[in-house]
Amino acid sequence: MPLVNPIKMLKNAQREGYAIAAFNIHNLETIQAVVEAAWEEQSPLIIQTTPGTLKHTGIPYVVACVKTAAELYDIPIALHLDHCESFETIMQCIRAGYTSVMIDSSKLPYHENVATVKRVVDIAKLVGVAVEGEIGRIGGTEDDITVDERDAALTIPEEAQDFAQVTGVDSLAIAIGTAHGLYKGEPKLDFDRLSAIREKVKIPLVLHGGSGVSDKDIKETISRGICKVNIATELKVPMAQAIQDVFTANPKENDPREYMGKAKEAVKKVARNKIQLCGSSGRAWDGIR
Ligand SMILES: [Zn+2]
Repeated sequence: MPLVNPIKMLKNAQREGYAIAAFNIHNLETIQAVVEAAWEEQSPLIIQTTPGTLKHTGIPYVVACVKTAAELYDIPIALHLDHCESFETIMQCIRAGYTSVMIDSSKLPYHENVATVKRVVDIAKLVGVAVEGEIGRIGGTEDDITVDERDAALTIPEEAQDFAQVTGVDSLAIAIGTAHGLYKGEPKLDFDRLSAIREKVKIPLVLHGGSGVSDKDIKETISRGICKVNIATELKVPMAQAIQDVFTANPKENDPREYMGKAKEAVKKVARNKIQLCGSSGRAWDGIR
């Protein structure tokens, strides 16, 4: 089937108290790995790329591969653009077939952030594409955006409520103490803040920086209203490890099917675990068909 707008799958997750895992992919094997994982779990799926990945692959390759996956496997798949600061890239992705985009203008002062996001929402709505916004600032490094700890700011519930209403975004990424990339210590999440935001904001809430957060804490955020969990670093690490293991065992290995095959299996295993953790197994068509 064609790629889907993720709003129905997110709304159903919100209603039923589970979450959709959104996986950042980088190449053909990582696309295959997350799609096979979702298929085996019979789960809805969000595949996402950062603008940096698109610089590496080109937009048409990603769209063609993900569309092909959606035709081969009878599960709903959305294609989402993660953390994009460029209006131009957003328009190119929408035109190429992305069904969801994130405009990240969270570094701008509040009113400019609102105006920038609203401009994207107004256009995306016309063509049936979902928009994720971000309010507060998530720390760490994603792609070429780095937010140091001093600039990271937790989401203020009242501001989130106003932002969601004024911009008309379909989902909202919030900052409750997670960070992109690998954590140095154990992350401390502000669960009470999440509950306060959930009270005031009616649209699906998104957790970024989920890699390295304990399963127990991820479950707690889902029980308090998170319905999209972004997973990037936690796929990259086992992928790199699997490739290293192949070359450690056989430094002369030169068959990409061997080392990329092992990489794909490693990514798929983590993706299945994450889907199970999010509670979306067996819910492929809930709220959609
Ligand atoms: Zn993020």
